[in-house]
Amino acid sequence: MNKRVRYLFTGMVQGVGFRPFIYRTAKLHNLAGLVQNRSDGVRVEVEGPAHRIEAFLSNVLENPPPLARISSVTSGEIACRGEVDFSIIESDALTQADVHISPDIATCGECVKELFDPGDRRYRYPFINCTNCGPRLTIISDVPYDRSRTSMSRFPLCSLCRKEYENPLDRRFHAEPNACPECGPRLQLLQSDGSELPGGDPVTEAVRLLREGMVVAVKGIGGFHLAVNAANGDAVERLRIKKNREEKPFALMVRDIESAGRIALLDDEEKKLLQSPERPILLVRKKPGAVISPAVSPGLTTFGIMLPYTPLHHLLLNKGCEVLVMTSANEIDEPICIGNNEAVKRLSSIADYFLVHNRDILVRCDDSVAVSVMNAPYFFRRSRGYAPAPLLLHRSYPAVLALGAHLKATVCVLRDSHAFLSPHIGDLSTPQARDFLHETVTLMRRIAASEPGVVACDLHPDYYSTRAAFDMEGVELLRVQHHHAHVVSCMADNGITGRVIGLAMDGTGYGEDGTVWGGEFLIADECAFTRAGHIHTFILPGGEAAIREPWRVAMALLREHCGDEAQALASKLALIPDGVDIEFFNEIMRKKVLCPATSSMGRIFDAAAAVLGFRSVVNFEAQAAMEMEAAAESGECGHALSHEVMKGNGAYQLHLAPLIAALAHDRLEGVRIPDLARAFHRTIAEALADVAGRIRIDTGLDRAVLSGGCFQNRILLRDTVECLRKNKFKVFYHRRVPANDGGIALGQAVSAGARKL
Ligand code: ZN
Ligand code: ZN
Ligand code: FE
Repeated sequence: MNKRVRYLFTGMVQGVGFRPFIYRTAKLHNLAGLVQNRSDGVRVEVEGPAHRIEAFLSNVLENPPPLARISSVTSGEIACRGEVDFSIIESDALTQADVHISPDIATCGECVKELFDPGDRRYRYPFINCTNCGPRLTIISDVPYDRSRTSMSRFPLCSLCRKEYENPLDRRFHAEPNACPECGPRLQLLQSDGSELPGGDPVTEAVRLLREGMVVAVKGIGGFHLAVNAANGDAVERLRIKKNREEKPFALMVRDIESAGRIALLDDEEKKLLQSPERPILLVRKKPGAVISPAVSPGLTTFGIMLPYTPLHHLLLNKGCEVLVMTSANEIDEPICIGNNEAVKRLSSIADYFLVHNRDILVRCDDSVAVSVMNAPYFFRRSRGYAPAPLLLHRSYPAVLALGAHLKATVCVLRDSHAFLSPHIGDLSTPQARDFLHETVTLMRRIAASEPGVVACDLHPDYYSTRAAFDMEGVELLRVQHHHAHVVSCMADNGITGRVIGLAMDGTGYGEDGTVWGGEFLIADECAFTRAGHIHTFILPGGEAAIREPWRVAMALLREHCGDEAQALASKLALIPDGVDIEFFNEIMRKKVLCPATSSMGRIFDAAAAVLGFRSVVNFEAQAAMEMEAAAESGECGHALSHEVMKGNGAYQLHLAPLIAALAHDRLEGVRIPDLARAFHRTIAEALADVAGRIRIDTGLDRAVLSGGCFQNRILLRDTVECLRKNKFKVFYHRRVPANDGGIALGQAVSAGARKL
């Protein structure tokens, strides 16, 4: 007895080989029917015996194509038609809604096999791809996703490519970037003045130049990288000097997973993440004795490594250097470079050669950065490979556009139960980044097919994103406090609602009282919060300067706890850099001029790192804290040091000046630095659990939500989770979006959306 069932699949089901997959699966189960792309998803009708239809559906749900993400399936029985065949029928006139744009996906195994097969017509062709892999987001000029709206539109398909493109059983059926050496894009190798380097095959030449220690700018998927041989210390140093990037770690690209294992200590989860189709940069432990220039990540025990994710990367690494430095090509704080002319103009003082091609990158997309924590990925930057796939939320919200924070900026469009979080935009201090923000807003509205009338932004009046929100006309503006947005982003990340205890441990954010917040205990739901506790406020002598010079914060905290003895302590610790006018500094502190108040946890970490002798002055944000974390890994936990909690102004005040003073004294008594670094992390974790415990007694709330940039510190994260769980808390930390300001846009969007419910 036959029946006919109609399904509607929604989510990322178009442009990812879903229809040919349905076709093959229906054939496999000997079912008749049809499949069709529609504006609201993919419609499937199957006709046949009930048990085969069931088997078909479980097959579809259990083994969808690698890039497909089914977010919902609805079904209903309809009248049989007595068909005998299964067919792919013409698409419904597509509107934009629910046609999700796929992220860019690493070259799949089948394509890599063809790439290195001398008998294949795409042998060594650097633009090989199929429905399961290749560029997506970064080649679109508009939606819906179709070759005519990509930078492939200028390459008419040759007859062989067209046959593949039109055959539902071919794995290149409707692979929009499909190409071959006959009809597709080509490489060129340019000299630093932009003229073409005469000579042979650009890949072979580039490999030779990299071997010789040259800096080669390589056009990738979402922008240019600067590449040098990672084993060549001189080359890496030279790149560092040219790039003006004194000590920030460089990312590495390794030939394959075996090569990765030669330079890093990898567990199974890390191997899995490195080989995933998203191919993030993964922070992994350095292997002792690895032949990598120490200039790659000075002072740290980790490397950021990734595997090749374009055919060109495979070609460059296959017979070339086993490990390349691959760092985003940009001037400090500027967005990643994408155009050929732009690259030559902006990078001619850094790169010796340019390996470019004529397939335009239309959307910038930096590499994603993740780490494996407690056997799951944990993101520092969610960008290429992940964006713009929407994050599924646990419920629907009214449409909102959120403009995010200022550093590590992203934007987010909320529509129904989907949060479309943009690729990484970066630091909004430069005009280029600001243009990029506006481009991204336009792009994300198109991708989400939504023009929200509600716009969310930070409270900080000087964030460029806040000003941009104020400049938008005809929209309702909702402002979300920075740390509240952190907490809500983590709630949305975990699919929870209702009241929670939010622990937002952060660098800095604008507080409701106009002071600089950053170590906050919030009783929060999605819409509102109260500040139940915070780190007891201390001063930042010199304001902004105190962020670059952690010794200033350390001095402020030592003085708070030890009074005049602070000066003597500081000189024994060699805390104050040479050349500092200490009289002037003391004067500032005494008069409290240029001394904004803060409750920032990030600054507490800086101060601890300064007192422990890691560094008094930093070259980039969190540098001292990262070095302290690295040292703590080899430290013994011992006993936790002191902290104090008092109640004042209606909130718990966590006093950490005594902890900084204890570190100073213990160091002078000769306690090992790694042990002190370890004890510091443990003490902070216990202090956080202590305050959370008091708030639970007051409120009965037992869910603790951890967010804010300080939770990028893995030791702090693990310790805090452990201490809270030991105290019977249900603990939530980030899974899909970063704990840092890259997640702020999501929190803003969900908070504003919830207020409009
Ligand atoms: Zn492929
Ligand atoms: Zn072709
Ligand atoms: Fe923040």
